[in-house]
Amino acid sequence: MEYAVIAFFCGLSAGVIAKIKGGSFWIWLLVGLVLPLIGTLAALFMRWDKDEPRRRCPECGKVLPISDQVCMRCGRDLDFPQAPPSDAVAS
Ligand SMILES: [Zn+2]
Repeated sequence: MEYAVIAFFCGLSAGVIAKIKGGSFWIWLLVGLVLPLIGTLAALFMRWDKDEPRRRCPECGKVLPISDQVCMRCGRDLDFPQAPPSDAVAS
C-alpha cells in the first residue's frame, strides 16, 4: 500500500514536471508509476522540445518548433528563417 502511494506521487510529479517542460503529462505519469524515482529524475533532467528555438505562425499565431515547415494548426507553409539545418542542431 505504501509503495502504491509513493509510486502515485512519483508518477504525479514526473507528469507535472513533464507538463511544465512541454511534454506529455499522461505518458510521464505512467513512466513515473512504473519507475517511480527514475521516472521523476528522467523528467527533471531530460531535454525537451521547449529548448528548441520557436517561432510563431503568421497565419494563426500558433507557436511552432523552428524546424516545422508547415503549421500544424492551419496548414500554412512556413518559410525557413535564418535557422541552421536541423542536422547541425541535433548534436
Ligand atoms: Zn498556423
